[in-house]
Amino acid sequence: MTTVTEQIPLHEQVRSFVGAPRKMLIGGRWLDATSSKTFATYNPATGDILAQVAEGDRADVNRAVTAARIAFESGPWRRLTASERGRLVWKLADLMESHAEEFAQLESLDNGKPVGVARVADVPLAIDLFRYMAGWATKIEGNTIPISVPYTPGTQYLAYTLREPVGVVAQIIPWNFPLLMAAWKLGPALAAGCTVVLKPAEQTPLSALRLGELICEAGFPDGVVNIVPGFGETAGAALAAHPDVDKVAFTGSTEVGKLILGAAAGNLKKVSLELGGKSPNIVCKDADVEACIPGVAGAIFFNQGQCCCAGSRLFVEKSIFDKVVEGVAADAKKIKVGPGMDPATQMGPLVSDEQQRRVLGYLEAGLSEGAKAVVGGRKLGSKGYFVEPTVLVDTKQGMKVMQEEIFGPVVCAVPFTDLDEVLPMANDSIYGLAAAVWTRDIGKAHRIAAELRAGSVWINCYNIFDAALPFGGYKQSGWGREMGHDALELYTEVKAVTVRL
Ligand code: NAP
Ligand code: MG
Repeated sequence: MTTVTEQIPLHEQVRSFVGAPRKMLIGGRWLDATSSKTFATYNPATGDILAQVAEGDRADVNRAVTAARIAFESGPWRRLTASERGRLVWKLADLMESHAEEFAQLESLDNGKPVGVARVADVPLAIDLFRYMAGWATKIEGNTIPISVPYTPGTQYLAYTLREPVGVVAQIIPWNFPLLMAAWKLGPALAAGCTVVLKPAEQTPLSALRLGELICEAGFPDGVVNIVPGFGETAGAALAAHPDVDKVAFTGSTEVGKLILGAAAGNLKKVSLELGGKSPNIVCKDADVEACIPGVAGAIFFNQGQCCCAGSRLFVEKSIFDKVVEGVAADAKKIKVGPGMDPATQMGPLVSDEQQRRVLGYLEAGLSEGAKAVVGGRKLGSKGYFVEPTVLVDTKQGMKVMQEEIFGPVVCAVPFTDLDEVLPMANDSIYGLAAAVWTRDIGKAHRIAAELRAGSVWINCYNIFDAALPFGGYKQSGWGREMGHDALELYTEVKAVTVRL
């Protein structure tokens, strides 16, 4: 680990933002929690308290849902034209762009990620998502449908469909990409004309709250977006169960995803889920090995391995196994691990002491079951939540480290002899979020892509995201697709209208 050499100076706005207790946004006003309670959010590089935040719970969720309901049913939001709605979303993106550095710093301070990464990935991707979705506001259309009703012979009908906003939406997001996940959720919901209650993760509420300020500045009517920071078991659970919420969209662990589903059953609210993964990354012997090594390393080490689509199971054809594993291990050794606010840092700390313990627990389990660390395997430093980038070999298919989502910088490398062997292994997971294949044989690449049971397949690349591309999971990785035009389906209902002529 490189020690702290330098930290960028805090943006003035960031200093004042973290310097005062942050409130919650309900009905266009910034409010304390009904209970007056606050909670601390921490800087994962030091473990120090970063800011105090209002702790929303059931009472605040009730207020926020009421505000969202009023805004949906009777506020000016409903009367805006699609073009006006789209322009508001676009304006929000413009405002974010003019405050991009603040967002990058807040994200780095709260989550731990390198500020340099937040500047080129999290923040611009979030802005781009809003712009992409702004364009959709005017393109949400129904169809005209010829019908031939057999029991009313001779009668003519005009039939068409309307695509309408689903209503009041609860959105519960995780801590790994706090701003980007807020964008993935808010962008399509707003383009579709819904109103929202957003609950950011307790570890990383700050960028969503700053976004809330810009949402007010952009001129969204009061109550269209409400933001209630708080804990999952209280605020999150109250939102998921709320009888006046029409839809809940959740990103996080598969375990909590199942709780959301149970909570949603009370009023059968619509549910979309973006959950965990254990994504296979397959390297064939005919791959461009030099190009694939950094790709494979990035697939697992990006964002400290805290990506739902991390390439955490690396399958390499036997004849090049040693070469690839050595290359990835060498890359891992070169990674500059340090505080996110050090501009030289390439990998930051994990988000929390809990996450650090969880990842170290997996490492211990894997090593005690017979896996070997070619590189890494331990925690790093005496303060902050750092873990060494780690490559494990000698893993067995049944081991916990091969089956469960570690959500840290840990990859399991496994050799294979041919496609008949590797494809069943790659698909042997309860998850199906992403997968990748590295080969120069284009036909083989497409055949493998077709065989992989995953919502995203990358060929000779990894972690390529675009607002226009749908993202989501097969199997227990989730329900529904975010981004792309598929995302609009999550936030709209279809109404069939039939007119007797
Ligand atoms: P998590 O518990 O699933 O948290 C995700 C979100 O759900 C947070 O906003 C959380 O609130 C909220 N939540 C928790 N319990 C809830 C409940 N009973 N009802 C409603 N909402 C609830 O994830 P985590 O504890 O932060 O991380 C645990 C593991 O989840 C990770 O190790 C990783 O494997 C996985 N994970 C996956 C993703 C992904 O992108 N798919 C993201 C993060 C984590 P609080 O944070 O306030 O408790
Ligand atoms: Mg934090």
